[in-house]
Amino acid sequence: MQKTETWTNLYAKKRMLIAGPCSAETEEQVLQTAIKLSKQGVKIFRAGIWKPRTRPGGFEGVGAKGLEWLKKVKSTTGMKVTTEVANIKHVYQALKAGVDMLWIGARTSTNPFAVQEIADALKGVDIDVMIKNPLNPDINLWIGAIERFQKNGIEKIAAIHRGFSTYEKTIYRNAPTWQIPIELKRLFPELTIICDPSHISGNRDLIKSVSQTAMDLDFNGLMIESHIDPDNAWSDAKQQLTPDAMMQILNSLKIREIKPQGISLETIEELRFKIDDYDQKLLELLSKRMDIVKAIGLYKKVNNMTILQSDRWSDILNSNIQKGEELDLSNDFVSSIFKAIHIESIAKQEKILNSDI
Ligand code: PEP
Ligand code: MN
Repeated sequence: MQKTETWTNLYAKKRMLIAGPCSAETEEQVLQTAIKLSKQGVKIFRAGIWKPRTRPGGFEGVGAKGLEWLKKVKSTTGMKVTTEVANIKHVYQALKAGVDMLWIGARTSTNPFAVQEIADALKGVDIDVMIKNPLNPDINLWIGAIERFQKNGIEKIAAIHRGFSTYEKTIYRNAPTWQIPIELKRLFPELTIICDPSHISGNRDLIKSVSQTAMDLDFNGLMIESHIDPDNAWSDAKQQLTPDAMMQILNSLKIREIKPQGISLETIEELRFKIDDYDQKLLELLSKRMDIVKAIGLYKKVNNMTILQSDRWSDILNSNIQKGEELDLSNDFVSSIFKAIHIESIAKQEKILNSDI
């Protein structure tokens, strides 16, 4: 068995760790949390001072006076500091106070006008900018926000995955929808991608498993909310961890490598060869299935039948979900595959029914 390295050994070398409270509340809370985190080896401290709230009247952050506290964090601990900026005024004030890294919150990256204004304010400034995913699961909106900074010459950019709003209730506060950051990584292989398990989880009990998934997907780091007294935090109390609890979680994570040194990759290559072979067969089968779909399309055209035959579609879906269960394939998986096949089949038949031949 290959030995797995612990987070403590690794994060200083390869993975980024950003930790600190959701919000700066008081000078004492900020400094106590920062000192504790710094002793644990954390090098980058986060704290929100301008807090975007869904409804007015809640705690909207301490504002610019929190910048003085961040300056103190820097001078007493030597940590770098980062805060969220949502408009030009925030940017100027944060830069003036010597904030080392800025992050763009999820509510802001949803709005291209707001992102453009911030990107313009940062033109020519050499600073790290981290861009959280927009609230809605729209990868192009996230990419667009990243590009607005790239176009303005900002070179040190990271994306932060903090999960997406969904209408359906899930165990998460914001659904991770991992395929989106995976796709972002595929499209931008050089981009640093950090996971924010706190806002995905919404609850401290889930932070470990979300962080482990992020590490197994080879994210470049984590941003975690940590507070000296989480239960009495003024915002996001349920998801914050004490510095000790956070380190305990981090140290229990298994950090794996894409290609660990000194092990033979022969076995995995053999297995991958088999996977490629099955993938080829899957495509050939799908293509043959579509040939039949087209023949049925012609039949429907000649006989003036609708494409959608609801009963037949219901039967196909239900019987395959059931057969899938026997083959250890989850209901959701089989259902999404057959729905995708059905959409493609309808598109093929639409083309036939609406052509002139
Ligand atoms: C935060 O980091 O405290 C925050 C407000 O996050 P998000 O923009 O992801 O909701
Ligand atoms: Mn928060």
